[in-house]
Amino acid sequence: MAREYVNMKNLRFLLHDVHQIKEVLAQPYYAEHDLESIDMMLDAVKQLSDTYLFPHYEDMDRNEPQLEGGEIKVHHSVRPYLDAMGEGGWIGAVAPMDLGGMQIPEMLGVSAAFVMAAANNGATGFNGLTTGAANLIVSFGSAEQKEKYLPKMFEGSWQGTMALTEPQAGSSLSDIQTTATPMPDGSYRIRGQKIYISAGDYTETENVVHMLLARIDGAPLGTKGISLFIVPKYREGEHGELVFNDVTPAGLYHKLGQKGTPATHLMYGEKDDCHGYLVGEPHRGLSYMFQMMNEARLLVGLGAVSIASAAYHASLQYAKERPQGRRYEDGKRDLTGPQTPIINHPDVRRMLLLQKAIVEGGLSLVMECARYADLAKAGDEETRAHYELLLDLLTPVAKTYPSEMGIVSISQGLQVLGGGGFCKDFPLENYYRDIRIYPIYEGTTGIQSQDLLGRKVVIKNGKAVKLLMAEIQKTLEAAEAYEDLRPYAEKLRAKLETVQQILMHLVPFAMQGKIERYLSDATLFMELFGLVVVAWQWLKQGVVAKQHLVSGKDDPDFMESKLHTMKFFYHYELPKTLGLAERLLDDTVLTIAEDTRELVN
Ligand SMILES: Cc1cc2nc3c(=O)[nH]c(=O)nc-3n(C[C@H](O)[C@H](O)[C@H](O)COP(=O)(O)OP(=O)(O)OC[C@H]3O[C@@H](n4cnc5c(N)ncnc54)[C@H](O)[C@@H]3O)c2cc1C
Repeated sequence: MAREYVNMKNLRFLLHDVHQIKEVLAQPYYAEHDLESIDMMLDAVKQLSDTYLFPHYEDMDRNEPQLEGGEIKVHHSVRPYLDAMGEGGWIGAVAPMDLGGMQIPEMLGVSAAFVMAAANNGATGFNGLTTGAANLIVSFGSAEQKEKYLPKMFEGSWQGTMALTEPQAGSSLSDIQTTATPMPDGSYRIRGQKIYISAGDYTETENVVHMLLARIDGAPLGTKGISLFIVPKYREGEHGELVFNDVTPAGLYHKLGQKGTPATHLMYGEKDDCHGYLVGEPHRGLSYMFQMMNEARLLVGLGAVSIASAAYHASLQYAKERPQGRRYEDGKRDLTGPQTPIINHPDVRRMLLLQKAIVEGGLSLVMECARYADLAKAGDEETRAHYELLLDLLTPVAKTYPSEMGIVSISQGLQVLGGGGFCKDFPLENYYRDIRIYPIYEGTTGIQSQDLLGRKVVIKNGKAVKLLMAEIQKTLEAAEAYEDLRPYAEKLRAKLETVQQILMHLVPFAMQGKIERYLSDATLFMELFGLVVVAWQWLKQGVVAKQHLVSGKDDPDFMESKLHTMKFFYHYELPKTLGLAERLLDDTVLTIAEDTRELVN
């Protein structure tokens, strides 16, 4: 039986029924699209993924990129895939039409990316990075830069990158040292090195457009002295021809997973001939880059949930087919009877339900964020500010919950396969390796957690949290209309009070200037907050499933399964907040560095 990697019915349920894409489509900005065209595009994405992505997943992992004679070669399936992406308009899909995009809602963009990354997450980094780089040019580039770079990037023939990290500047981007010297012709000479740059160089692309952070000579120290540059691998020469721009690959990293996408170590300006072109204003680079990083963070959360989806489907199929042991109910000691499929063992069902709860809950959270991005984009000033605040608050959570819990989810999926899960005969070990990077790049979990507690929660005197509480309140009221959902609404309400109690305990530390104390358990706060927010997403799905069942609408089995998984989340996952809350309210802190003696031995 062919293996599935996504549940398209669930995707459509989230897109249409739970998150109501029709409300987004009602905005004039999206007038070119309707429900029918959205569904057709989703079908096209599935077909593209079935053809160009899924069949190459395993082979890309086994045949990783090679650096030979200064050139990097990637898997043979990458070029045809990127051509198909360009032809389908997917690389520039969310960009405005007047710049060559399709102006599709983020909600659809996220749905498409979900299907593609579930099919082959090692390949989708190529187009994802180009889209992110192009979106930066769309937002902050000059008319000339848009004209020069966007068409080639959107058609997939030029690769985009995000060139931030340096050996001494990973989480701490304020320590970037790459320099940019102004030249009389208005360009800059770039000198420095960047590490871990994904899709940073390979021969199967005509050009690479690096969105690079550097310091203009004499710029102030720290984040306020960082500017954003376009640094192509080949720049335009005097007569419009492409000339080499002194960007060379010094090395290729050999990674645990996501082996299809080359992670490169790049040298800029070794021969003093690397030209960079300033984007926007000097010294504002990091704030521009944050736009790309915020988008990228959502896509990281989405990528994690996509891999977890593929892993869930693989382990579900295995669990239905693998006979092992007998059920107590069937007379465990009667060895003459047939073995039962392992899906009938409660512990295996627990592992499968956990995976489903994480995948469908995490996807719903990312979709919620995409909806906020769409409503912010198309609304008036007040609406925009409203949804941007909600998006700001939830972005670190939407990056972190799927990344961290996706690992747990796939680990359980691997466990479902027993010894087979550990072996290359089955894809689980591949998914397990692939997902491990997600809590690391685009800001580690530690950094996201400090962002959540240190900035987002207290932003505008806690206004973002108040807006979120108001959103959750709507779901609580809708749930309270149904007797069997009322207990779940009550559980969630109690958890919201726990969040408030923890904040009242912690915020005074921040007010006294004890920032290290305030943030010392930020990651544990993130874990608790993520559980509460995803519980909200499950109640939201539960309400819609219930509405469908009451009105006798389509597919009662699907809706019952939704409600069952919602209950699973509330009875098995949400109680984990109790232990976290106890820790977060505990006055004993053992992690603040006084000296290293207490860690010796
Ligand atoms: C496969 C891969 C692809 C990548 N792709 C790109 C790319 O395309 N472009 C790009 O620019 N970069 C890329 N990166 C780099 C990635 O973004 C960084 O690895 C990441 O930001 C972490 O930086 P670091 O590795 O230097 O770790 P460090 O910053 O040294 O962090 C190490 C540990 O210390 C913790 N830590 C650090 N500072 C603090 C702090 N202030 N408070 C609390 N804890 C802290 C971190 O949470 C982490 O656990 C990629 C990395 C990998 C592995």
